[in-house]
Amino acid sequence: MARYTDSSCKLCRREGEKLFLKGERCYTNKCAISKRQYAPGQHGQQRKKVSEYGIQLREKQKARRFYGVLESQFRNYFEAAVRKKGVTGENLLQILELRMDNVVHRLGMATSRPEARQLLRHGHFTVNGAKVDIPSYILKEGDVICMTEKLRQSPKSKSVSEIAGGKAVPKWLDYDPETFTGKVLTLPSREDIDIDIKEHLIVELYSK
Ligand code: SF4
Repeated sequence: MARYTDSSCKLCRREGEKLFLKGERCYTNKCAISKRQYAPGQHGQQRKKVSEYGIQLREKQKARRFYGVLESQFRNYFEAAVRKKGVTGENLLQILELRMDNVVHRLGMATSRPEARQLLRHGHFTVNGAKVDIPSYILKEGDVICMTEKLRQSPKSKSVSEIAGGKAVPKWLDYDPETFTGKVLTLPSREDIDIDIKEHLIVELYSK
């Protein structure tokens, strides 16, 4: 499967804002974007006039990189969002939010989405009692996510709790740190999703 293997920080610098791809480092002054707030590469510091298409493309790339989704999968999510009732852009963000890797991160059980993906692939989580090791698994209202005993006992989970534990869990989710268990209380609405993305630009891009 295709996989991005270059520096994650370059993605943030290309989008001009923090995408929080590196866990703890993103919250320190080691963050590359606080040191070099311009696009990577030889021409990164040049000022360019951006076309309407370019603005839409950047917004789509930002969303895709924030959630760690490849182009073809992102397009499939868009098509699923079109088929759903409601506003397409909001449907798209809701689908992305309900990805298992995002929910594990939002619950504070991983310091970043890439870390959540790795833990998931190693089989450290269950949904309603059954092992789920697919980061793109889409959760439903009422689903219960639980960390396996093995990960709970590991030093990794303790350091994750220290780093991610201070973050507020969104109100559409519930988390019990005693039992390392989370629950999807309700489907997230646009107001619940604290991401600075203009989803209508993505819809415009794909509707051309
Ligand atoms: Fe992005 Fe985190 Fe790197 Fe900062 S440290 S540039 S937020 S991935």
